[in-house]
Amino acid sequence: MRSRHRAAHDALTGLLNRSGLLERMTAMSHAPGSEQIWLRLHFVDLDGFKGVNDAWGHAVGDELIVAVSSRLRDTLSPDAIIARLGGDEFAVLTIDAVQKQSSPDVGQQIQIALQRAFEIRGRTIGIGASVGVAAAPAGSLDSEELIRRADIALYRAKDLGRGVTVEFEDGFDVDTKRLAQLEDALRDTLSKNGIDVAFQPLIDAESGAMCGVEALARWQSPDGTRHRPDVFIPLAERSGLIDQLGMQVLGKSIDAAKQWPTIGLSVNVSPMQLKNPKFTQEVVEVLKAADFEPHRLCIELTEGILISDPDQARRAIDGLKAAGIKIALDDFGSGFASIGTLRQFGFDRMKVDRSLVVALDHDDNAGAVLQATIALANALHIPVTAEGIETEQQALAVKLSGCVELQGYLFSKPISAEELRQFYFDGRSPPNKQYVG
Ligand code: C2E
Ligand code: CA
Ligand code: CA
Repeated sequence: MRSRHRAAHDALTGLLNRSGLLERMTAMSHAPGSEQIWLRLHFVDLDGFKGVNDAWGHAVGDELIVAVSSRLRDTLSPDAIIARLGGDEFAVLTIDAVQKQSSPDVGQQIQIALQRAFEIRGRTIGIGASVGVAAAPAGSLDSEELIRRADIALYRAKDLGRGVTVEFEDGFDVDTKRLAQLEDALRDTLSKNGIDVAFQPLIDAESGAMCGVEALARWQSPDGTRHRPDVFIPLAERSGLIDQLGMQVLGKSIDAAKQWPTIGLSVNVSPMQLKNPKFTQEVVEVLKAADFEPHRLCIELTEGILISDPDQARRAIDGLKAAGIKIALDDFGSGFASIGTLRQFGFDRMKVDRSLVVALDHDDNAGAVLQATIALANALHIPVTAEGIETEQQALAVKLSGCVELQGYLFSKPISAEELRQFYFDGRSPPNKQYVG
């Protein structure tokens, strides 16, 4: 009896483990009257658990897991079956008489319960959860299939960011297949060195002259389909291709920018690339091989890694700065990064997000927010670039607020290296309305 219990339960929390959960699900599916009940399986993944483990060690991490399991028990109905699947993954199985959303909404209950801070060894720890849900009439699907669906829904939820609950839909399977094909195609393109780069001019606010360009990855399939970077960049990040993609963009943009004297080159770097301990070294080698002055290169980083892994971010940023490379904080104002972050990491530049610029047109407070943001950055002697400038009014407003560099369709859409050369270095007029994807 003892050993049976052990085989079906998790030693740390006393909850069911994966095989215990499977056993229960299978038993329910075969019970008499099972056609009338719906099984709803919730997969729960803690947000930010790895950070807790890394920062305070596994003992604190274990205590947190135990605290989470008690809180789930205290919150959910006594009928709910709770399991720990391993690591920071939990499952909650509920039974409903009907197909529709269970009442009360268990996903929501879990979210709310885990959003409250935990007190562990005198520390206040805030986490949260992502939840994936799959439901089916008991007996209509085998347990493994329900688990697979909940897992896919959880994967989606994590993709959408923290604190989200996603319910499985049939379309997810199709999407999963399509994504797998897209991943193969991207891998193939990368192996042929086939990622292209478009360049978008950065304009000096005072003189109106181009002072630099931002390199933006472009991917066109052989059949002519142009894929959007906000689709294929996350895909590359998820499938381990981002290092290769990033280096291809860096290499090609440096080769192009070498032909353009004096102007700066900004390149986007994914937070995942910074996790590669060799990243700085590789960038420095590319610069050396191309004989490109490091101070002309600016790496644009989004805030994600500053929050999820500040130590790693600092190491990478320090290394890059020591090599003479500049670092900009991209998309400022779209997330949580604060002015404190700017100072702490020693950014050389800040780029305010397009959303702040767009807000100027319809939100009366937006001007004041933008002005205050830029004033703070300027007080730290950090120059500010405004992106997504589409109208003269926006350009004027951000200039008056203290932006020293402007970027946006008003000046030029991203264009090919060849066009940039023709229009900017051979003296033709800028191609405002043209676009090369
Ligand atoms: P981002 O770094 O914020 O780049 C600016 C995006 O805004 C670009 O979209 C650009 O075409 C667009 N944009 C510029 N001016 C305007 C404007 O006036 N109006 C509007 N509506 N949009 C404007 P794009 O090229 O689609 O890139 C999207 C995102 O993909 C980039 O956002 C960046 O986060 C990412 N990305 C692009 N290339 C790379 C890359 O080589 N590596 C990495 N890691 N990320 C990249
Ligand atoms: Ca950028
Ligand atoms: Ca940006």
